[in-house]
Amino acid sequence: MKFNSFSTSSTLLLFFLGFLVQGQQPFFTAESEHQWLSTDLHIHTVFSDGAVWPSIRVEEARREGLDLIAMTEHLEYQPHAKDIPHPDRNRSYTIANGMIREGEKLQVINGSEITREMPPGHINAVFVKDANALLHKDSLSGIQAANKQKAFVFWNHPNWDAHRKDGIARLEPFHNYLIQEKLLHGIEVVNETTFSEEALQIALENGLTILGTSDIHGLTDWAHHIAQGGHRPMTFVYVENKSQEALKKALFEGATVVWFEDLLIGKKIHLEKLVAQNLTFVSPQYRGEKTIMEVEVTNKSAAPFHLEYTGALSFHQRASAFIIPANSMITLLVKTQQKKTTVELPFRILNAITGPKKVLEHTFIVR
Ligand SMILES: [Zn+2]
Ligand SMILES: [Zn+2]
Repeated sequence: MKFNSFSTSSTLLLFFLGFLVQGQQPFFTAESEHQWLSTDLHIHTVFSDGAVWPSIRVEEARREGLDLIAMTEHLEYQPHAKDIPHPDRNRSYTIANGMIREGEKLQVINGSEITREMPPGHINAVFVKDANALLHKDSLSGIQAANKQKAFVFWNHPNWDAHRKDGIARLEPFHNYLIQEKLLHGIEVVNETTFSEEALQIALENGLTILGTSDIHGLTDWAHHIAQGGHRPMTFVYVENKSQEALKKALFEGATVVWFEDLLIGKKIHLEKLVAQNLTFVSPQYRGEKTIMEVEVTNKSAAPFHLEYTGALSFHQRASAFIIPANSMITLLVKTQQKKTTVELPFRILNAITGPKKVLEHTFIVR
């Protein structure tokens, strides 16, 4: 359907729905002084090989409740350049950022995808001041230029099967050099529809920030079924405030958790925090003489939690493995055999990934 065939009323309705979505709760609750900012740091438009104008990217991000997006066009790959000539490589950012209203939740930052064969493959730089200055004959100079602008630089889709036919992410000497020289700061463990355990291992071993991005070229709704309750891959950044300085600082410090389908992926210290802030076991009570403890389990987040109890007790209603859906509360009936004021319930959070073949273990203390 063409946009000009929309009736005024349906346009107004869409605008109103978009407004409602914008006012939604954050995806993940944080402690009072902090926030989990939702970001997508890898996005394309017609200014490289994407299929849409930058305004659509802003509108999608608003509807999906994102806090921040980075416009990251391919620097060297410009298939639409004949139809849409644009000597200024900042155009996509300039147009998108120009749509942001005073005081609105969504922010846009400038970026670039330095697009080379492997090694090093594709490298994103975000918080770029001038994308034109990143265009160089060799990729190292482009990466150095990004660092000169104090950009946050990360390795895109290291598992991409066009570059790695076995889908295995692995470091080349070039990447080791970039890491040693502190020219590379992060790595995508999730890109579009893929998750790489090997990339996660590389991040953990080399102190790189763990990232997940959409790398969207078409529409996010088509790729991730937003209308049916889906969501694009996002990187949540644990920040002291919503300023871009605070976000950049937290990215360099590696304070991230990736949300991809039902998976939450991050360093143990950050996942632990996110789980403790969003999943609570409270208000234990017994009825009469019975020794079955009733506990309220609340999931305040937009992601479900897949739990496996690893303790010695058993439940009156559930097996040891169960799911607490997003934004929901369940009652857990724990057979404690005698009345207790405190019970410790150890769990494995099966969808909280802290490393290859590793999930978060967390003990909830109910009192
Ligand atoms: Zn790429
Ligand atoms: Zn890309």
